[in-house]
Formats: sequence, C-alpha cells, structure tokens
Amino acid sequence: MLFDTDIAIVGAGPAGSTASLFLAKQNIAHVIIDKAEFPRDKICGDGLSGKVVGVLEELNPKWIEEMQADEAHFLDSWGVRFVAPNGEAIDLPFRINQSLPERAPGFISKRIHFDQFLFSKIDHSIAKVFLRTELKKVEREGQALILHLTQNGKALTARTRLLVAAEGDRSVVARQLAGYRMQRPYYYAGLRAYYENVADLHPQNFIELHFLEECLPGYFWIFPLPNNQANVGVGILSSDIKKRKLNIKKIMLSAIENNPTIKERFKNARMIDPIKGWGLPLGTVKHPLSGDNYLLVGDAGSLIDPFTGEGIGNAMFSARIAARLIPQFLEAGDFSARALKRYDAEVYDRMWSELSLSATLQKLVRIRWLFNFVIKRINSNPHLQETFSTMFNDLDNRAKLRSPLFYLRLLLNL
Ligand SMILES: Cc1cc2nc3c(=O)[nH]c(=O)nc-3n(C[C@H](O)[C@H](O)[C@H](O)COP(=O)(O)OP(=O)(O)OC[C@H]3O[C@@H](n4cnc5c(N)ncnc54)[C@H](O)[C@@H]3O)c2cc1C
Repeated sequence: MLFDTDIAIVGAGPAGSTASLFLAKQNIAHVIIDKAEFPRDKICGDGLSGKVVGVLEELNPKWIEEMQADEAHFLDSWGVRFVAPNGEAIDLPFRINQSLPERAPGFISKRIHFDQFLFSKIDHSIAKVFLRTELKKVEREGQALILHLTQNGKALTARTRLLVAAEGDRSVVARQLAGYRMQRPYYYAGLRAYYENVADLHPQNFIELHFLEECLPGYFWIFPLPNNQANVGVGILSSDIKKRKLNIKKIMLSAIENNPTIKERFKNARMIDPIKGWGLPLGTVKHPLSGDNYLLVGDAGSLIDPFTGEGIGNAMFSARIAARLIPQFLEAGDFSARALKRYDAEVYDRMWSELSLSATLQKLVRIRWLFNFVIKRINSNPHLQETFSTMFNDLDNRAKLRSPLFYLRLLLNL
C-alpha cells in the first residue's frame, strides 16, 4: 500500500495545491498526489482574477509581490475590454484596492508557470507528495476509501479516511462516487492558442472579451501575456455546439482572419503554440459537493463561473473552504456524508449568489440588441462606466444587472 492516511488530496492544480497550502498553515499532515510531473501545462485562458489574488493574499502576501516582480512569467492586468456583438467596445478598469494601489488587481500567467509557482509553495514537511501517480478507481471500504492508483505504470493501492478530489474536469471521484455526468447546457468547450505580436493590446494589459454573434453566450478572447505574447481562444456552450453543429476551431480561426475588429491586429501575429482544447464544467446549477469520505473542490465540483469562465479563483476559494473545515471533521472523527454536508452549505453560502447571477447574465447576453445597447450607453456616460467598474468587486452592485428596472433606467437615460 502506497499510503494509509487521514487526509489525501488528488490533483495538485490550483484547487489541490491551495487545499494543501491551507492545511499546512494549520499544521495538518496529508498526502497529495498528481498524475503529472510538475511543471505541467493546463489548457486555459491564463487569466488570474482578483479572487485568486485575494486567496493568495490570505496564504502569504509576499507571494503576490513575488509574482509582480517576476515579469517574465506574470503580467499585471488592470482591467477588461468588453466588445459587444456589433463590435463596439468599452474598457473598464478593475477597481483598485485603495489601501494597496500599487498592487495589480489581476494577473495573466501561462498555467505552466502559475501552477508550478503554487505547487512549489507546498510544504513538504507536512505534505507527502506523489507525482506521476494517477487515481484510476475509488471504492468505499468501511469508514475509508480505497484508491486504486498507477505510479509509473505500476498498479498500487492506498487508503484514506477523507479524500479531497481536485482532479479537475473529468474527475474520477465526481464520476464514480458522486455520479456526475457531463451536462451540455452547463458545460463550455474551450480552445486556446498562444500568439506573439498581436497588435494594439491595451497599455495596462486589459483582458479582452469579444462577444461575437457566433459564440454567444460564450466569447472569443485575447489575454495579453509577458514577452509580447497573448493567449487567444474561444469558449462556446456545448449544447449550442451540438444543436447548431458548430466547428469551434473554424469559428476561432475565422474570427482571426475575417472579423473586422480583430483581423487587422493579427496581420503580423504568429501562432507559436497550436490550438488545444479542454472543457469547462460550469456552476450554473447546484451539484452535491460531498459524500461519505470525500469533498469535491474546483472543477471536480463544477464550480466555474458561467458568465466569465473564471475557474481558477473559484477552485482556490472552494479549496480554502474545504481546508478550513477539515480540522472540525478530524476532531469529530466524522467523515460521513451527513457531517461533510457542511462543506456544501458553506461553498454555496459563499459562492452561490455570484454563480447564479452569472448564470442569469449568461442568458441575458444572448439578447444581442440589449447587449449592444448597454455597451453603447456605458460608452456615452462616465458615471455608468464607474458603476460597471465597481461591479467586478461589488456583488450587490452587480446584482443590479438582474433587475429590469436597471435596463429601463438605461433606456430612459436616467
Ligand atoms: C480553454 C479554457 C480557458 C479557461 N480560461 C480561464 C481563465 O482565463 N481564468 C480562469 O480563472 N479560469 C479559466 N478556465 C478554467 C480553469 O482552467 C479551471 O477552472 C481550473 O484549472 C480549475 O482548477 P482545478 O485545480 O480544479 O483543476 P485543474 O487545473 O484541471 O487541475 C487538476 C489536476 O489534477 C490532476 N489529475 C487529473 N486527473 C487525475 C487523476 N485521475 N489522478 C491524479 N491526478 C489527476 C491533473 O494533472 C491536474 O494537475 C479555463 C478553462 C479552459 C478549458
């Protein structure tokens, strides 16, 4: 048996590494395994939101300074450009933390670098790390789980009383124990490629979301990266791909070659890493996030924001919640489904208002004329620009987007 432990984490991406870091902070010994060797890549847009910065701040504020100083791997980002289906754009700065105005509100970093950064912070005096170790199957045995693993091609078993499942989309634990299946209306297919020399990127590295007709409610994106590179990609709802028989790769390339607001910017650009794809399990509906002896964190629990596609921050935030509850489960010696339900309750308590609001926005952006109209109005009104800028940090303010009254006021220019 490879290990017999109280707490094991499977997956060392943002969710798994964050769970390990918060457990280490509380001095709780655990095992963490990953099927990959680090550094390893992960297909992503590479955007690190304010939520990521917030969780890192809690872990160790010095790490943010390290990121900001490492200009070869981390680019600070100060806002977002929204482009409406009719091509009209608005630039909205992220609201800056007033007490730390010099600290970037967000970053963009290739996942091969960011995930390695986080992984490198794992405290090996508290966490036992096994890489190239893949979970193949999981079974319940008494008050524990038996993990069937392969390590460098060799079959092994291990035992844990609590398993934190952080293996991302296609989680073995979510499928085998929680009965998850991919649900197309709640799932984006995403593609990304790396380019260099894309023209006219924002001087403050704003990320760009282009809501092209053919992608709605998804979008085409350009996220600037260090070294004059950019992450360019597209995300489209899987149910739309099936229903409308879309070729998502063609849509991405066609936007680059033909879209009037995009093509000029790619005239001298060069693809430096081919187009690659992966799925985004969205938190559009509530799923069970735990059961006897396991917790699902990050993509394993389908917690990606249905409007923005942001999953790294939510993965880290859910892992933080899990790791903060674990001492209580340990103390009570109770890893039953009934006891672990507290985790579901806390995740949805903290995250559901944002996820459900994003699910509503995802529906609203399908209404093209409304989207075009809102962008036009914001562009012509500095006060509205300020209101929308605050919406990134202020959920109550963002909730106004749900209200028909808000749109009526816009319409009447009040
Ligand atoms: C195209 C695309 C663009 C995206 N853009 C953004 C963006 O710009 N910003 C953002 O915030 N989010 C974005 N996301 C979402 C984001 O990538 C995920 O939400 C995030 O990676 C989730 O982190 P995680 O730790 O839960 O899972 P992952 O990052 O997937 O990590 C899972 C880890 O588990 C390991 N693993 C998997 N299976 C096993 C197994 N059986 N045994 C052992 N180990 C295993 C893997 O090797 C990996 O290290 C994007 C996603 C896609 C697909």
